[in-house]
Amino acid sequence: MHLRYSYRIYPTAGQRMALARTFGCARVVYNDALAARKEARRNGKPYQKSTDLQKLVITAAKKTPERSWLASVGVDPLIQSLRDLDTAYRNFFDSVSGKRAGRPVGLPRFKSRKDSRQSLRFTRNGFRLRGNGKLNLAKIGDVRVKWSRALPADPSSVTVVLDAAGRFHASFVVDVEPDPLPEVQSEVGIDLGLTSYAVLSDGQVIDNPRFLRKAVKKLKAAQRELSRKAKGSKNRAKARRKVAKAHAKVADTRRDWLHQQTTRIIRETQAVYLEDLNVRGLGRGRLAKSVHDAGWSTFRRLLEEKAARYGRTVGIVHRAFPSSQLCSQCGHRDGPKPLAVREWACGACGVLHDRDLNAARNILAAGQADRLNAPGGPVRPGVAIPRQARPDERGTHLGDLRSTGVRAAGAGGIPTR
Ligand SMILES: [Zn+2]
Repeated sequence: MHLRYSYRIYPTAGQRMALARTFGCARVVYNDALAARKEARRNGKPYQKSTDLQKLVITAAKKTPERSWLASVGVDPLIQSLRDLDTAYRNFFDSVSGKRAGRPVGLPRFKSRKDSRQSLRFTRNGFRLRGNGKLNLAKIGDVRVKWSRALPADPSSVTVVLDAAGRFHASFVVDVEPDPLPEVQSEVGIDLGLTSYAVLSDGQVIDNPRFLRKAVKKLKAAQRELSRKAKGSKNRAKARRKVAKAHAKVADTRRDWLHQQTTRIIRETQAVYLEDLNVRGLGRGRLAKSVHDAGWSTFRRLLEEKAARYGRTVGIVHRAFPSSQLCSQCGHRDGPKPLAVREWACGACGVLHDRDLNAARNILAAGQADRLNAPGGPVRPGVAIPRQARPDERGTHLGDLRSTGVRAAGAGGIPTR
């Protein structure tokens, strides 16, 4: 299985210039290839093969005066850039034909110098790890790496990323063998908390760490400052960089923290059940969503990756079932409750519920039921339940919610959970 390992790298001024030039070349090659495919399509010609396209936009282009500078950079990242275009097209075709689940994918778009994230991929021929710990990139040089953790095996490729905050990262793809942990008995449902980060059905509460709240506060202050600066001014550009830096800080802090949390959960439990983010996300305010849910999708992805590696199961509960209305004890449906209601007593059996804990227990029960009823029988450990909704659950999310009596915020309803 493939895993990604990402590290901060520190190219010198000269290396940064060489990287900038290569980013530019990879972008031009990508855009030229996309333009050629679009034109072929307009003229009713068949979809061009990647090898033909490669000859056209790299090999032949280098010999023209307009594109001769393509020869000044390594060829490997240029070829990888074309592979990315192929992947973008494949995702589009698969999305149109229904082979690909999830949000519809549009046609590939042209890349811009102004994109906030620039990246390059080098395969085995294009990079080497030096004995002194430096990363050698073809035609760039030996780049200093901050090895925050050890690579478990030889990487098969590396992607160099420049983010909006001006930082460089090297993201390695490493092929590792699954490494199942000894089986444990416990299974948990996890509910995305409102006041805390998450609540587990066994009663554990994962609080938002204070350092993350601090970072978010700083980010908001930076955003306010940016909104006050005149458009096009130097100060605005400065403020924008500050926002990008604050964003990066929040993202890094959150990622580290999420790694710790997900590793612990995967170690302690055999199966983890979560509710689908798209269903849940509708009931939240915009800011809460951007700050909180961004972490939630990473949380889920990390759980799925670690489960696959360590022989655990992650199940996604797709049903937009009203987890805060059902009594997890007797199944009685008690009606919607305003967000302020943190505890409630079941009208049928009288059990007193903590709102989030009750929801987590409902998610556990639904996840376990889904697993037993899965088309191929119980899902094998270590294989995540596919994200795709069952046919009867497809349709717009709003429709899904209506059909189960949960109304979305902004649609005239109380934002129920
Ligand atoms: Zn009850």
